[in-house]
Amino acid sequence: MSHLEIKNLHVSIEEKEILKGLSLTVKQGEIHAIMGPNGTGKSTLAYTLMGHPNYKVTGGEIRFKDIDILELEPDERSRLGLFLAFQYPVAIPGVTVANFLRSALNSRRRVENPADKGIPIPEFRKMLKERMDMLKMDHNFAGRYLNDGFSGGEKKRAEILQLATLRPEIAILDETDSGLDIDALRIVSEGVNALAGPQLGVLVITHYQRLLNYIKPHFVHVMMDGRIVESGGPDLALHLEEHGYDWIREKIDEAV
Ligand code: ADP
Ligand code: MG
Repeated sequence: MSHLEIKNLHVSIEEKEILKGLSLTVKQGEIHAIMGPNGTGKSTLAYTLMGHPNYKVTGGEIRFKDIDILELEPDERSRLGLFLAFQYPVAIPGVTVANFLRSALNSRRRVENPADKGIPIPEFRKMLKERMDMLKMDHNFAGRYLNDGFSGGEKKRAEILQLATLRPEIAILDETDSGLDIDALRIVSEGVNALAGPQLGVLVITHYQRLLNYIKPHFVHVMMDGRIVESGGPDLALHLEEHGYDWIREKIDEAV
């Protein structure tokens, strides 16, 4: 079983320390949610996991499938089976959703078998249609240029279709974009719920309590000031919805 293991992670942006000793393990088959107030480093964690060059890891480790991934490029991490959804996906005019997905899928296949000739096109088309049906998507979507003029909701659909096609072992979704409306939240949650199972581990990062009304996490973590300060089951999300974060702050203040 694949694990994503984050140990005592310290990350700085432009000399400022943002993550201050964060530890977390996500296994295949588990759904974890990270919540927390704005500015606590949630997106920093997501960008660091995907290997964004501006985020400097100054301590700790990130291992995936027992491999130290800190030295790996973002595309190498992806081919290994880690899926990182972009909060602000870029448009690629001229490349259709289908072509993009097929080349991403083929490069993943080549990791497993360097001699792989790529998925035959009829097989790919059939698979793509099945996945689009599962996600209740119009088949025309596959022929559009990736993210080119996509609405927020369509970008989310493209992201979830990517998840459904690439079948990663661990997916990290940063849903903190304040521009996301309730429909987009629903698209993401329905997609995750449709794909969840023993083969997929999910880490959803959100400041929307209500996302967790749709996605049922097994574990909920609260992040504050660059660390995970509280972990629990789904009931923790409900408690936060009712009581906010102040009780956690008080608890931390008492402890010091
Ligand atoms: P969250 O996603 O929890 O709202 P972020 O990870 O986006 O938090 O931000 C954490 C902190 O890092 C904030 O104080 C923010 O101002 C700072 N920060 C984020 N990105 C940058 C950047 N590119 N340059 C400088 N500071 C940044
Ligand atoms: Mg954020």
